Amino acid sequence: MRPFKFTKAKDEADAVRLVSANRDAQYIAGGTNIVDLMKEDVRRPNELIDISGLKLTRIKTIPSGLSIGALATNTDTANHPLVRQQFPLLSQAILAGASAQIRNMATNGGNLMQQVRCWYFYDVAVACNRREPGSGCSALGGLNRRYAIFGWSESCVAVNPSDMAVALAALDAVVNVTETSGTTGYGIPITEFHKLPGDAPHRDKALEPGELITSIELPRNNFAANSYYLKVGERTSYSFALVSVAAALELAGGRIKQARVALGGVANKPWRAYDAEKMLVGKTPSREAFEAAAAEEMKKAQPLEHNEYKVELGRRAITLALLRAFKGAAE
Ligand SMILES: Cc1cc2nc3c(=O)[nH]c(=O)nc-3n(C[C@H](O)[C@H](O)[C@H](O)COP(=O)(O)OP(=O)(O)OC[C@H]3O[C@@H](n4cnc5c(N)ncnc54)[C@H](O)[C@@H]3O)c2cc1C
Repeated sequence: MRPFKFTKAKDEADAVRLVSANRDAQYIAGGTNIVDLMKEDVRRPNELIDISGLKLTRIKTIPSGLSIGALATNTDTANHPLVRQQFPLLSQAILAGASAQIRNMATNGGNLMQQVRCWYFYDVAVACNRREPGSGCSALGGLNRRYAIFGWSESCVAVNPSDMAVALAALDAVVNVTETSGTTGYGIPITEFHKLPGDAPHRDKALEPGELITSIELPRNNFAANSYYLKVGERTSYSFALVSVAAALELAGGRIKQARVALGGVANKPWRAYDAEKMLVGKTPSREAFEAAAAEEMKKAQPLEHNEYKVELGRRAITLALLRAFKGAAE
């Protein structure tokens, strides 16, 4: 690992000032991703600004719904009574990720900012546009079994690895950020927070360098009784999703009033299945309706050489997640 300076931020403004003043500085929160990237020489900050002591850990009710602190750990967030009661989909998604030990360290802000798990990105001996813009994408013609089927470009075919972000996309969360001035803040809808690669995969988040995530807002909804997070991976622990689905339904008079479906493991951002959602509204919940919606969404998939299987897997995963959501996640 290369030498680096370690500076503890006193408060939010101090953190933002320190990172904005040094283009080679980066924040460290739980450290479960950035330290690995530094050990592999993928990221080479000359200074880490430790934000773990900042007072951004609260989970509290706000007029629009619930606010969860950027520095609350994944464990504390998933187990918080307000999250479990009002947004069980988020609890489930967080608990489907990583391992208990990692979730104890990992923070919500760090989870949203984590890097792709592309092995070509991690291997500094090969080309990767995300690590070294303009060098090429080794995954495009390489071992791309685990990679994207939606929204990829010739510059990058990696997928976003976060489980939490998939549930947040289904729940229309907003990511609150402090600008580099350190004094003003603004909110970014989660669906715009992660970006498709286009020709600039190295800029995969909507944040400007130095901006700090302070909290995530979850607007109130009526999905708690009928939601489910389904993760399909190679193992049940320590394994990133091949395909995951966050499904949520609001029912009224025996019909679907509102539906939310978001997919993980299929694109460089949590993929909102808007076509599936549209098809579900107004329908009586049934296996047939869920299968039709799933098929509609997967029509647009563009698999790579080695991941055609994800199209069928995605179709079945959406159907199963909706079936389990409809039963109130009781299975
Ligand atoms: C073995 C293993 C398995 C895993 N499996 C899963 C999985 O199945 N599902 C899943 O979702 N995740 C998984 N993870 C990823 C894990 O969830 C992330 O590493 C973790 O959430 C990152 O949070 P952190 O606080 O440790 O971030 P850090 O490592 O501290 O930071 C990560 C990045 O975020 C930036 N950052 C951190 N906080 C902020 C902030 N408030 N504002 C702006 N930038 C910030 C840092 O500068 C850095 O670039 C796994 C990780 C490991 C090591």
